Amino acid sequence: MTNTSLTSRPGNGLARSEIPLADLIHVSEKEEPPSSGFQACSNGQTITPSLPSTSLNFQFPFKPKKVYSFPISPSSKIFYTNFWPGTSAEQWNDWQWQLKNRIRSLKDLERIFELSEDEREAASQNRDSLPVGITPYYASLMSRTDSQDPLRRTHVQVGQEFIRSYGEDDDPLGEDGSTVVEGLVHRYPDRVLFLSTGFCSTYCRYCTRSRMVGSTGKYRFGTERWNAALNYLRSHKEVRDVLLSGGDPLTLPDDRLDWLLTQLRSIKHIEFVRIGSKVPIVLPQRITKDLVKILRKHKPWMSLHFTHPTELTPEVKRSTARLADAGLPLGSQTVLLAGINDSVETLKNLFHGLLKNRVRPYYLFQCDPIKGSAHFRTPVEKGLEIIKGLRGHTTGYAVPTFVIDAPGGGGKIPINPNYVKEVDGKVWKLKNFENKEFCYQSP
Ligand code: SF4
Repeated sequence: MTNTSLTSRPGNGLARSEIPLADLIHVSEKEEPPSSGFQACSNGQTITPSLPSTSLNFQFPFKPKKVYSFPISPSSKIFYTNFWPGTSAEQWNDWQWQLKNRIRSLKDLERIFELSEDEREAASQNRDSLPVGITPYYASLMSRTDSQDPLRRTHVQVGQEFIRSYGEDDDPLGEDGSTVVEGLVHRYPDRVLFLSTGFCSTYCRYCTRSRMVGSTGKYRFGTERWNAALNYLRSHKEVRDVLLSGGDPLTLPDDRLDWLLTQLRSIKHIEFVRIGSKVPIVLPQRITKDLVKILRKHKPWMSLHFTHPTELTPEVKRSTARLADAGLPLGSQTVLLAGINDSVETLKNLFHGLLKNRVRPYYLFQCDPIKGSAHFRTPVEKGLEIIKGLRGHTTGYAVPTFVIDAPGGGGKIPINPNYVKEVDGKVWKLKNFENKEFCYQSP
C-alpha cells in the first residue's frame, strides 16, 4: 500500500486513485426522495398527508402516485442539520453526496469530533498508511466526544496503528503470493478472490487489505486488469466460485458493476458469485432500486461486513430489506475486535438484530495480524468464550463459525470450543452447553 498522510492531502484530501470512482459517477435516484402527496417522517415511516379542503373534488377510488422514501434516523437528522446546515433530506439520501462529503482529513475530523490527543497526533502525522474515510451517515452513528466509542475506534486512527508488533505483516494472509494475474488471488482449487477496486466508502482501521485500499500505490485496478482476470477465469475451468471484493465492489458505478457481473455470469463454469461489501452498513443509501435491479439480474450472494449493534439502524434495515426482498442470500462476516465487540452480550445483540434483518451471521473472524493491529486483536480464547456463550443459549442461526485465517495463506481454520470429553471405543462422551455429560454410541 502506498500510504497517504492526512496532512499531505490538502483540500478534500482525495487520494488520486480514488477520484475517478468517487467523482465521475452520478446516479440520480429520483424515486427515492419523498415527493408530492407523501412525506417521510424522521423515523423513516411514510405518512399520507391529510386531504386538502378540495378533497371533495377527488375521484374515488383515489390511487396515490407510488413514491419511495428512504429512512433517516432522528439522530442522523440532528447530526447533518448541525454539521451540514442547509442539507436537504434528498441530498443526505444521495449516496454520491455521502461520498463527496466524506470525512477525509484532520480538519474534517476536528470539525466533527472532539479529538483525543492520540487521535489528533495520529491524524496529523505524515505517515505511509491507510487514509481516513468516513461517510457522514456512518459518522452520525459515532460519539462526538468519546474516543472510546466502538464505531469511532474502528475508523479514526490512533498512534498504535503505527507500531508493528511481533507476527504482524502488511499481507498477513499471503495473498500477494497467490496472485495469478493482477487483482486475482487463486489459492483454493475451485474458487478465486477478484479484487475489483481499491476504493471503499469508509476505511476500517483493521482492514486486512489496508496495503492496497484507499491509496493503491503499486496495486492497480481498472478495466485492463479486469480483462486480464476475466481471461484467466475463462481458461481455468476448475474455478466455479468467484468472490468479488476489493475495496468495496458496491462503490462501483452501476454500469461498471453490471458489466463485470455480466462477464462473470457469461463464463459457464462459474456457478457461484459472491460480493463482499460494507456498503449496505456504512452507505445504506447506495442500495438504490437501480442497483437492486442489477443485483437481482445477476443473483450474487452477499457477504456483508457488520461490526456492532449500533449499525442496526432504520437505514440499514431498509438497505438489507431491499437486498433480501430481491432474493439475494445475505450473510454477515464480523471481525472480533478488542474493546469494540468482544463480549457475548454485544455480539448476541448484533446477531439477533441481523437475523431480524434476514442476514445470517456466518463467520466471526479472529482479527488478522496486519501491521499496527495489536490494539484490535483479542486472545484466541476470547472468541471461544463468545461462541460458548452463544451455542445452545440462542438460536443456532445466530451462532457464526469462529475462524482464524491462517497467516501465510493457510486458509480459514474453524476453531470450536471442545464439547467432546473423551472417546472410549465407540462411545463418545460429550458435554452440552450446560456442561452436562451425555454419551453417544457411534455405529
Ligand atoms: S470496507 Fe472492507 S475492504 Fe474496505 S477498508 Fe473496510 S474491511 Fe477493508
